[in-house]
Amino acid sequence: MNATVILLGPPGSGKGTQAERLRDGSGFALVATGDLLREARAAGSELGHRAAEFMDRGVLVPDELIIAMVAEAVAALDSKPVVLDGVPRTVPQAVELDALVRAHARELTAAILIDVPDDEVVRRIQGRRQGRTDDTPATARERLRVYHRETEPLVRHFQERGLLRRVDGAQDPDSVEHEVRAALA
Ligand code: AMP
Repeated sequence: MNATVILLGPPGSGKGTQAERLRDGSGFALVATGDLLREARAAGSELGHRAAEFMDRGVLVPDELIIAMVAEAVAALDSKPVVLDGVPRTVPQAVELDALVRAHARELTAAILIDVPDDEVVRRIQGRRQGRTDDTPATARERLRVYHRETEPLVRHFQERGLLRRVDGAQDPDSVEHEVRAALA
């Protein structure tokens, strides 16, 4: 069965960088929901319009929009391992994703938590502006609060299923990549 790997972690944890490294170095297909939403906005689609107001406030886009978008992306994958960056972000999304993975004869292989303490996240947010419309210090802080409230419960969700792998995300990107690969080996 085709491997399906989830990357979890707070904003600024380097999930996006690690997901791209798995794509570029290990032949994973990449589904990054933040990128898909930004593309939808740029294309001016209905989904893009609906998502924009949530994204700009640093809060989550409603589950039903995300689930429909991810279902479409997963259906379009050929038989390759896939890495998911930015989804699931809520328990309902995790439940739906589980059903979706099974419906496509895929297997949830691991949920890798790229662990970065809050004070380091705040330092990174202050030091690095990416030019995104949701990248002001205020929305970045809101995204961190939303992470703790809505996404962090997934750590336990995946731990209970024996799928959680914890990686120290406070290191340089090469060392994090090394640990990610070890977690998948
Ligand atoms: P990201 O690039 O992953 O940080 O996502 C940027 C923004 O897109 C987030 O702050 C949310 O508003 C929205 N978003 C991305 N993925 C999801 C998701 N799985 N569920 C809800 N909202 C999402």
